[in-house]
Amino acid sequence: MADNKKPFYITTPIYYVNAAPHLGTAYCTILCDVQARFRRAMGQDVKFLTGLDEHGEKVQRAAEDHGKTPQEWCDSLAPAFHDIWNTLEISNDDFIRTTQPRQIRAVQHLWDRMKDAGYIYKDSYDGWYCVHEETYYTETQVSKSDEDHGVVGRHLCPECQRELQRVKEESWFFKLSAFQDRLLKLYDEHPDFVMPAFRMNEVRSFVESGLRDISVSRTSFDWGIPVPFDDKHVTYVWFDALLNYATAVGFGDPDMADEYARRWPAQYHVVGKDIIRFHCVIWPAMLMAIGEALPEHVFAHGFLMVRNEETGQGEKMSKSRGNAIAPQDVIDMLGVEGYRYYFMTDCVPGEDGAISYSRMTQVYNADLANSWGNLVSRSLNMSAKYFDGKTPELPEGWADRANPLKDIADGLVDRYVAAMSVFDYVSAKNAVLELVHAANHYIEDSAPWAVAKDPARADELEQIITNLLEAIRISAHLFAPFMPQTSAEVLRRMSLADEADTTDLIAACQWGGLASGAAVTKGDALFPRLDVKKG
Ligand SMILES: [Zn+2]
Repeated sequence: MADNKKPFYITTPIYYVNAAPHLGTAYCTILCDVQARFRRAMGQDVKFLTGLDEHGEKVQRAAEDHGKTPQEWCDSLAPAFHDIWNTLEISNDDFIRTTQPRQIRAVQHLWDRMKDAGYIYKDSYDGWYCVHEETYYTETQVSKSDEDHGVVGRHLCPECQRELQRVKEESWFFKLSAFQDRLLKLYDEHPDFVMPAFRMNEVRSFVESGLRDISVSRTSFDWGIPVPFDDKHVTYVWFDALLNYATAVGFGDPDMADEYARRWPAQYHVVGKDIIRFHCVIWPAMLMAIGEALPEHVFAHGFLMVRNEETGQGEKMSKSRGNAIAPQDVIDMLGVEGYRYYFMTDCVPGEDGAISYSRMTQVYNADLANSWGNLVSRSLNMSAKYFDGKTPELPEGWADRANPLKDIADGLVDRYVAAMSVFDYVSAKNAVLELVHAANHYIEDSAPWAVAKDPARADELEQIITNLLEAIRISAHLFAPFMPQTSAEVLRRMSLADEADTTDLIAACQWGGLASGAAVTKGDALFPRLDVKKG
């Protein structure tokens, strides 16, 4: 159960400025947004950070190719991220760019602290480097990979199979090897440091296999943050990028000492499973080195795979396979809120998702058009029709009378909160749908259109419609983190617009909150049915 008084700090990775926002970055960002909105509704003091990683050799090269300075190049790319996050209703409270003065100051502060603590030293680096991942590989990793791929006479990146660079240069090193035992102790003492639990094995066995010191500065290019005491060197991109989470809450800024004390450490870093080692090994070791608190959880999500309709197997999205899906394609089909709902409730956040247009159509039609949308539209129509454009004048003691919907609603919020708190959005959604499905059945079972024909049953009709509207009101609150605009619209149609910004979700979801005799707006269909052939 979430502690209401506690600040809640959640971050996405900072995205590489060079790569346009895509389905995967959108997925990770919406994952955090849903959590941030849920926590705000629970009354927590939320900070939600996203941003851009703008340094490194690749950015410098791309800028040169386009005849721009690296900063101009980054500035020309950043708006695409702001635009898509706006469109997708991302409610981040901060947007960090690693070229901002606050990040430069923080990274230089980190260097000084590392030096004082004795965890960096200068040596010469001789090894393999992939510009694509900005990652160093050992001789062993490279020769094993060459063997596995049958490569002769040249060396390809174990990760992306691009040609590797032989790098031989003076470099500052971080003594990562000194943290092996402390990292293993961390994993033992905080088994939920890495989530979901099954990802812990990968992290642990990597650390158990032995940690090497890592090169954390470069001299062969200059698009990076200068090492404060050695200006030939710029900071290795990951050493720079990881610090952004602390920078954004005031690390190294004396004017933000209070904010830093209140906000750090982060509760959740949400990352893709491909960058889990950086976040679960290097980042905590960096913080241990300078004596700062460690983040509480690193939550790793899986990849979005496209389901091949013929084989039923998930495939990686790629241009060459012709199966790539862009965010705008999904927005055009499902609308923004249908998009958010589909990805958050049909893909298990920790696992790889198998997505397809036909599945999108199916989920949208079944859950949203036929179930929730239909429930809202039928119930509001009946209320307007039988009660003169209003909600019923609420019968005395109505909220205490037993009925099938109240029974379901009473146990719902606790289950929902428990699931949402650990990113189990699928279970949370299923809980809300129980209420929605039960309400649709209740319409059939209680047949209000028949009851309405008998003036002697007026009280009964009031109670039926009241129960339906109350179920809708509660479902709107519970769906709000996924579909904020639609949920607010549903509440507005029952004259409950003010409730949409609740910071006490549990109280808001108690049976009995409906407004008596309030104006009802029928409105347009919330989720027009999709033609199945489109899938
Ligand atoms: Zn590579």
